[in-house]
Amino acid sequence: MNYFDLPLRKIISIGESLSKKLESAGIKTIGDVLFYFPIRYDDLTKLKDIKDVRLGEEVVLKGKILQLSHSKTFKKNIFITEALVSDNTGSIRVIWFNQPYLKNVLREGGEYYFFGKIYFDKKSLYLSTPFFEEVKDKQKYFGKIFPVYKEIKNLPSRQIANLVKKAIEKIPELKDYLPDFILEREGYPKLKDAFEKIHFPSSVKEAELAIERFKFEQVFSIILLTLKIKYKISRQIAPVIKPDIDLIKKFLSTLNFNLTLAQKKAIWIILKDLEKPRPMNRLLEGDVGSGKTIVALTCALNCIKQGYQVAFMVPTEVLAKQHFKTAAKLFADFGVNIGLLTGREDKFISEKLKNQEIEISERKLLQKTEKGEIDILIGTHTLIQDKVKFARLGFIILDEQHRFGVEQRAKLAKSPIKENGKILIPHLLSMTATPIPRTLALTIYGDLDVVLLDQLPEGRKKVVTKVFSNKDKEKALEIVKEEVLKGNQCFVICPRIEEKEKKEMELVSVNEEYEFLKKRFPKFNIAKIHSKLKKTEKEKIMQDFRDRNIDILVSTSVVEVGVDIPKATCILIENAERFGLAQLHQFRGRVGRSDLQSFCLLITDKKSLKTLQRIKAILESKNSFELAEKDLQIRGPGDFIGKKQSGMPDIAMQALSDRKLVEKAREYAKELLEKDLHLKNYPYLRSKLVELAKKIHFE
Ligand code: ADP
Ligand code: MG
Repeated sequence: MNYFDLPLRKIISIGESLSKKLESAGIKTIGDVLFYFPIRYDDLTKLKDIKDVRLGEEVVLKGKILQLSHSKTFKKNIFITEALVSDNTGSIRVIWFNQPYLKNVLREGGEYYFFGKIYFDKKSLYLSTPFFEEVKDKQKYFGKIFPVYKEIKNLPSRQIANLVKKAIEKIPELKDYLPDFILEREGYPKLKDAFEKIHFPSSVKEAELAIERFKFEQVFSIILLTLKIKYKISRQIAPVIKPDIDLIKKFLSTLNFNLTLAQKKAIWIILKDLEKPRPMNRLLEGDVGSGKTIVALTCALNCIKQGYQVAFMVPTEVLAKQHFKTAAKLFADFGVNIGLLTGREDKFISEKLKNQEIEISERKLLQKTEKGEIDILIGTHTLIQDKVKFARLGFIILDEQHRFGVEQRAKLAKSPIKENGKILIPHLLSMTATPIPRTLALTIYGDLDVVLLDQLPEGRKKVVTKVFSNKDKEKALEIVKEEVLKGNQCFVICPRIEEKEKKEMELVSVNEEYEFLKKRFPKFNIAKIHSKLKKTEKEKIMQDFRDRNIDILVSTSVVEVGVDIPKATCILIENAERFGLAQLHQFRGRVGRSDLQSFCLLITDKKSLKTLQRIKAILESKNSFELAEKDLQIRGPGDFIGKKQSGMPDIAMQALSDRKLVEKAREYAKELLEKDLHLKNYPYLRSKLVELAKKIHFE
């Protein structure tokens, strides 16, 4: 068993009540104590004369114990240690509560340093439960800086320091799993030394370097782990799918627009990947409206015409239907059989039947897929069911999922192509509008290959973002009105569905807002949508909105992602302070999907106005990567990784937003794997990684 996982009470003797307190705060193992890092440090370099101490002050004193007594109180049965301490200038009482072990530690006549707070009782001033150290040639704690910890349930920082001190003294010689060459080059302290330097450093700088060592360790092992997975995938075999340039040219010439340069480049990069005998594992990242679908479909057509099937998985049914329609339109003259698997309204389009849409039972559709008669199957998570089998699956597209994707690929490729006794793993393309910060792309996303659509189609106008206080909401509504009168449509986002509960007085609900807007704009068609509605109801409303039958759609944050509504030019967001940067960015992406000028209106109360102003500034930054990095700084990587997966320790979460550290760790990880791919010379590190792989799930 790992030393750090040993129960605390096995290593240091602590009383029942202290142990309970610690446990209730989640501190159970020796590691929990050692990794309870200080929140800041106090300066223990400045001595005070006893004559100068004042009530309420925190002081460092140096003096001799003239008298020492141990007793128990009658009523509460508290163990009390009392000492009379004096220096050249005066004397003071020093009292410790409930620390019976002091009997064996303190001695009369001894000279000590003390650090604690001055209190007053009926008799006089006294120093309460101080941290102390006997005066020696070389002090370990005093004359330095001293840790301050976040209090744990009535357990003051100084008592925690005592506990940590004991824990550090007990650390045996631990094997370091960071390779020596890294420790040396970076000047990082060895394991035991690192704990001493974090908890009881000589300088803040020393502590920072020791903390960095642990952050590095976390990031480094995560990167090692994901790089190893990447290397493993790259040793697998995938179908070689040659690009048919003539076909692609012909296909692109049928579009009623020209591709952006970014789209052309992306298609080229993906086609190059598909041609390699290694499974592609690529992320196509581009702002909402940058035209990812056409990139994916162009590559899909190429695969189909080379004799492979394509699976296109999306998060919602509305989106599945939208893609089905798009594919039907674009592939009309290319003889492609398209399937839509939703579990309820399954359809397919067959070239033989003159590209007609035909309703079909799920069973039939699955049969056709298994026989290879469906070229591209579009659907939601319905696609990963066991019963969905392909004859020749060569290419998987995952839309709107900023996920690793490796696990989905495994689920989709249950019946992989076998050729000459070899299993061919399909290529994988994930698409997302949520920019993934580089730090995460390099770490938890396993050094994923990314291709960017950093350009919007011509004629698109930048969405104008405006912030309003509640008082000025009317000004925002004027913009809504103008847009609707122009024949455009508007989203209104609220953080809640129902009427106010006491707790959330200030939050606007969908129901209220809906009623309010109906009164405010009696002539407009207004509808509401939220998660409590039935799936079919939601889809009908979304369809009506798409068909332009609704002017204003009031909804919670759950409005479908990726749905293309060109006439939606305005999105108003109530209680905008409730939403994270990435979410606001997503919301804003629902508008601005045509050449019309669009607006994003953020409503918030006065207090949070400043925050929102800042967010607005960030939203206006051109580069969505910059935005992602900022979001990561503000909220941490929890959102990207998902809360559930938090097998991840706090320190790792922090470290993951530290770009420099991540880059450094990556260089070292590559260097190490180049030297020793299987970590044969690093058995301890290898076993650590096995442990980590069990703890952390990226999917
Ligand atoms: P997203 O990247 O958000 O998935 P879509 O693929 O849904 O974007 O594309 C948004 C809209 O832009 C669609 O109606 C699509 O037909 C259109 N579109 C895509 N590429 C271009 C282009 N190069 N020029 C003009 N319109 C385009
Ligand atoms: Mg899309």
